[in-house]
Amino acid sequence: MKNLKIAIQKSGRLNEKSVQLLKNCGLDFENYKSSLITTVNNFNLEILFLRDDDIPGYVAQGIADLGIVGENVIDESQEKVIYLQRLGFGRCTLKIGIPKDSDIKDLQDLQGKAIATTYPNILQEFLAEHNLSAEIQQISGSVEIAPGLGLSDAICDIVSTGGTLKSNGLKPFADVRRSEAILIGREGLAENPILCELLQRVQSVLRAKE
Ligand code: ATP
Ligand code: ZN
Repeated sequence: MKNLKIAIQKSGRLNEKSVQLLKNCGLDFENYKSSLITTVNNFNLEILFLRDDDIPGYVAQGIADLGIVGENVIDESQEKVIYLQRLGFGRCTLKIGIPKDSDIKDLQDLQGKAIATTYPNILQEFLAEHNLSAEIQQISGSVEIAPGLGLSDAICDIVSTGGTLKSNGLKPFADVRRSEAILIGREGLAENPILCELLQRVQSVLRAKE
């Protein structure tokens, strides 16, 4: 039977737990940091190590059959993939943050304001849900410094402890979406026996953790 391919993050916040999950499923593979693809010795699976942002696209195009990635990244990509299993790790919240002394008091005050983010699509959707329009400043990182530099009135970014917000003179203002890591698949995989076996193992690993 043809091997399936699963894409996981190469390095970063989801890498270690993704590797651990697959190992806990009894999969035997080498986890060389330098190789971008590895074959599982005792299962019909190959593992691709990618930037997390690329994972939804690879899966949607069928280059990878499966992927492990944050919901925030899936949503932002707007790629069409299938949610197979919530994984319970990589939990975080995308929030709007504002300067400590901001005159923004409720959501309506965001109307017409400039908001810096690396998540323009999710932010746009959130604003539309609240009948707001704002000027979305898309940047690719270090979002928290934007208000201090005068680039924006607010930011929209992933916040866990709030430490980065605080050290940049910001405070959390509103939750935009929660996220956790998800096992995703391409369309048309449903009856695949390799996937069925893998999914069973993943689910029993998750149950054992409860
Ligand atoms: P890559 O190099 O793969 O593009 P990255 O820098 O974009 O990595 P990471 O910071 O490693 O991404 O985060 C990966 C994912 O981990 C996030 O997209 C999110 O789903 C999740 N996550 C969990 N907690 C946090 C957190 N405190 N901050 C950022 N992301 C978090
Ligand atoms: Zn990324």
